[in-house]
Amino acid sequence: MEDARREHREGWGMSSASVTRVVYPTSVDDVQAALKQARDNSWTVAFWGGGRSYGDAALNESNLLLDFSGMNRVIDFDPDSGEVVVEPGVTLVQLERFGLPKGFWPPVVSGTMFTTMGGCISANVHGKNNFKYGPWGDHVVRFTLVLTTGEVLEVDRESHADLFHHVIGGFGLLGVLVSITVKLKRVHSGRLSVLPSLAEDLDEMFRQFERFNDSEFDYVVGWIDAFAGGISLGRGQIHAARYVEENEDPEGKHLVGLEHQQLPDRFFVFIPKSWLWWLARPWAFRWGMQLINSVRFWFMKFAGHHEPRLETHTAFNHLLDFVPNWKWFYTPGGLIQYQFFLPKEVARPIIRQVLELCRSVKLESWLVVMKRHRADDFPLSHAVDGYSFAMDFPVTDKNRGELYRLTERFNELVVEAGGRFYFAKDSVVTSDAWRKSLGDEVVGRFLALKAKYDPDEILGGNLYRRVIKPLKGEVKLLEPKLPELEPAPVPEPEAIPVEEPAAKEELVEAEEPQAEAPPEAEPDSDDAAKTDAGEAS
Ligand SMILES: Cc1cc2nc3c(=O)[nH]c(=O)nc-3n(C[C@H](O)[C@H](O)[C@H](O)COP(=O)(O)OP(=O)(O)OC[C@H]3O[C@@H](n4cnc5c(N)ncnc54)[C@H](O)[C@@H]3O)c2cc1C
Repeated sequence: MEDARREHREGWGMSSASVTRVVYPTSVDDVQAALKQARDNSWTVAFWGGGRSYGDAALNESNLLLDFSGMNRVIDFDPDSGEVVVEPGVTLVQLERFGLPKGFWPPVVSGTMFTTMGGCISANVHGKNNFKYGPWGDHVVRFTLVLTTGEVLEVDRESHADLFHHVIGGFGLLGVLVSITVKLKRVHSGRLSVLPSLAEDLDEMFRQFERFNDSEFDYVVGWIDAFAGGISLGRGQIHAARYVEENEDPEGKHLVGLEHQQLPDRFFVFIPKSWLWWLARPWAFRWGMQLINSVRFWFMKFAGHHEPRLETHTAFNHLLDFVPNWKWFYTPGGLIQYQFFLPKEVARPIIRQVLELCRSVKLESWLVVMKRHRADDFPLSHAVDGYSFAMDFPVTDKNRGELYRLTERFNELVVEAGGRFYFAKDSVVTSDAWRKSLGDEVVGRFLALKAKYDPDEILGGNLYRRVIKPLKGEVKLLEPKLPELEPAPVPEPEAIPVEEPAAKEELVEAEEPQAEAPPEAEPDSDDAAKTDAGEAS
């Protein structure tokens, strides 16, 4: 492993950044050596998977960052059970491309395909199917963890159960994930059956979500026009999707090949996708976004598209990856995403209040995504039995003060409602709000585990220093106690693999890490589109 080099790293939203020392481990030995180096130099350590956390979760100002792009091999695969062993730097897109031709798909996928398995497990990432399939943690069989002492532990639900339940969702604060075993889901087709529908207001939006929640649908996601007010407040569109039955989509059996899961290269046939963020940029102001949101709603209303249709897994799950570097639309100040999770009993009135608050200060979110979730048995997890609401806001010199005042008000509302926050999206939550949202029992048990496995506080970057470290000494440490909750069952229909499973020798080799061009680059070729698609929430 080369010596640490100084690099500038930004959170994905581009509104948090750090200069940090970076090393690129390629083996467990390298990880152990980096931890020793950090200890010898009194540096703290944080990890960089795909760098897709919006805020500071993967940043570590002036200290050490382990970038896992060089540990991205699939180590083993069992075609009978779908269990796959991967290194932490394996990205979702790698896993999808590995699994689909063999009839398997990741049970949980984030809006972007460029997250890594290390990042997905550490954040306990959810997908649009969270209400039915739970977060990634529900699909982890075991993992190998390197402690700050260099000791290597095999961790599963039975052995080191306390670590299992807190490393998942623990944002790299207890140990380093160096290999992860997860169970993939069998699928019969390269496509999903997708049903779009429209909601004229917030009440209808909730009614539709509840309807899909108790149905055969596996995924549900809502888009909301945050600019609409009055009787149209909360209007938007819902997409529900389900895996197809075994003989329902004979053609889809042949669409598991990678060539069928590519997102198109061009928009309206001739416009290279890499130009899209740049072409849309003149609309990047409040009235422009109001118009775009409005046109989107009315287009959906009048163009119809309300019949079920078949869509590839990639197109449904990673729609915004279609627009390469769409985040540059928000340059120069970048964006923050504020995502909160509310119990179902209180979600509707609080979301109404949030939308009205935004409108009252003329700071409507430019993109709002709503999802349905279920509770899980990971104490630090963000999901509750209820709804999440994710709002993208541009950050500018002019709006910064008002925006942060607004998010403080959101924090209060979420805490009062018994809701949760999500560090993967966060830039603004305070120690106090985070502590209240989880409760002193959960925080006290986590801090006790931290004191046990990382007594010298070697693990922890900007996020840890901003939110968690200030609670040391404030919250009473408690012995780890695991939740009694049994993990909710994951639906697993019987299925026959679509193609002959690959022999072990065919396990995929490391993929080139995604190279990202600087924002000032002019949009040019569609090659750029192929190397880094933009991403979706
Ligand atoms: C466009 C977009 C859409 C998104 N959609 C969703 C979504 O639908 N659902 C959702 O839940 N999230 C979503 N996210 C958030 C994203 O899934 C999480 O931030 C995820 O953690 C990012 O993974 P990463 O590999 O980029 O990790 P990073 O952002 O690099 O790191 C995330 C955390 O994982 C830790 N970590 C990384 N590797 C290791 C390791 N080997 N050992 C221990 N700790 C490690 C880091 O220290 C850090 O705390 C989205 C993000 C973007 C940008």
